[in-house]
Amino acid sequence: MEVLSHHLWSRVLCRLPRVLNTSCKSHSSCAAGHAPKPTPTDSINRQSTYLPLVSRLFQPSNLRDVAQESHTQGEMTCKSQRLMLQAGLIHPSNPGCYYYLPATVRSIEKLVRLIDQEMQGIGGQKLDMPSLCSADLWRRSNRWDLMGKELFRLRDRHGAEYCLGPTHEEAVTELLASHGILSYRQLPLLLYQITRKFRDEPKPRFGLLRGREFYMKDMYTFDVSEEAAYHTYESVCQAYARLFSRLGLPIVKVQADTGNIGGKLSHEFQLPAEIGEDRLLVCDSCSFSANVETMEPGQTDCPQCQQSTLVETKGIEVGHTFYLGTKYSHVFNATFNNSLNKPAVTEMGCFGLGVTRILAGAIEVMSKEEAIHWPGLLAPYQVCLLPPKKGSKLDEVAGLAEELALTLGEALPRLKGEVVLDDRIQMTIGKRLKDAYRLGYPYVVVVGQKATEETPRFEVICQQTGETMFLNRDGLLDLLRCVDTV
Ligand SMILES: [Zn+2]
Repeated sequence: MEVLSHHLWSRVLCRLPRVLNTSCKSHSSCAAGHAPKPTPTDSINRQSTYLPLVSRLFQPSNLRDVAQESHTQGEMTCKSQRLMLQAGLIHPSNPGCYYYLPATVRSIEKLVRLIDQEMQGIGGQKLDMPSLCSADLWRRSNRWDLMGKELFRLRDRHGAEYCLGPTHEEAVTELLASHGILSYRQLPLLLYQITRKFRDEPKPRFGLLRGREFYMKDMYTFDVSEEAAYHTYESVCQAYARLFSRLGLPIVKVQADTGNIGGKLSHEFQLPAEIGEDRLLVCDSCSFSANVETMEPGQTDCPQCQQSTLVETKGIEVGHTFYLGTKYSHVFNATFNNSLNKPAVTEMGCFGLGVTRILAGAIEVMSKEEAIHWPGLLAPYQVCLLPPKKGSKLDEVAGLAEELALTLGEALPRLKGEVVLDDRIQMTIGKRLKDAYRLGYPYVVVVGQKATEETPRFEVICQQTGETMFLNRDGLLDLLRCVDTV
């Protein structure tokens, strides 16, 4: 077993960057400069030991001069947009649409896993509905006309009309109804999806905060009674609160207007931010908070405690919940047999989360002017390791960084795939550190002067706290053992 793992280890090192020039010579299997003959297990081993190298990441590492590019790419409208463009996390295509580059996709996937955990934790079942929605379906609920220009509309070759779905109340309710009458024992039913949504924004802006194509989580719930539906509503709201707390986002839940979704009760989950487009009124004496749209014009006194004056703040809407009643289930005939074996119409709720908006909103409120700060769980990579510059007097410890990278991945399974090596050793540590700050790796580990000591120590920078410390290998392992990943 020992022999085998050493053999694999040597192969791993051999595949590592030749630029670092540290390992190949010492291993016999590489003496001729060739990789060992592949075995059937090779591909599996390779995948599980792959170490991401900054020089190979598809993400502009020579950070662009944004001031210069702003002429060609339209106005930089907010911090998150500027930082994400600067760091090469997104790339503009057409108005309101972006390429999400690999690091961003890693972050989105983490957020999706987190949302899955919370939604499935309250009994949610994930499905995936078509983005092409037929106009007939939307006409039955009367929303084909009501939605106006916001809806992206198109025709197929036969002339049939469709829209690119911005929301799926019609589709999911028809889906449920098409399966015949449910039993009350099968309810509540909580169905959700995390998919691309489309909205023809008149003026897309703020990067991923107000785009025309974006990711959203939309959940639809079906209950036996109004009372049961309120219970489900509350349980989804609690799951949202848990999600935002795990992300470290200070969300305010406010009473909201039901808009063209319809229904009787609605809340928005707002992330307070200077650039927020929603105006909120918040009471500092009691728990009351509401979107201005829901209030009497000019009202300044708290309607709940009547003791305080409401304070106005701005927010980015990152979640929205609706109790719909039977508005859609009635139209599409989504019914169930109640305990008396009589058919009844289901009571519905719908619950949105702006996935890409949560990501950009978090970057907006957590970041510094020149450095992205991620919610820890969403950072694309947790650790960046910086070996010394090539040809410096620290050449003797050059190999420590990659050795450390592999050790971390093996000793701390949660960090597997979360460690990158900044192998651009032709650049100074200082230059690479600057990039690392901008990209916001939660932990940056520098192999510097103190690594030459008898017990090598490494400079560890925690970007969230701004702390710098010098730790030996065990100290580093202890620190990183506490890192939470999803
Ligand atoms: Zn109050």
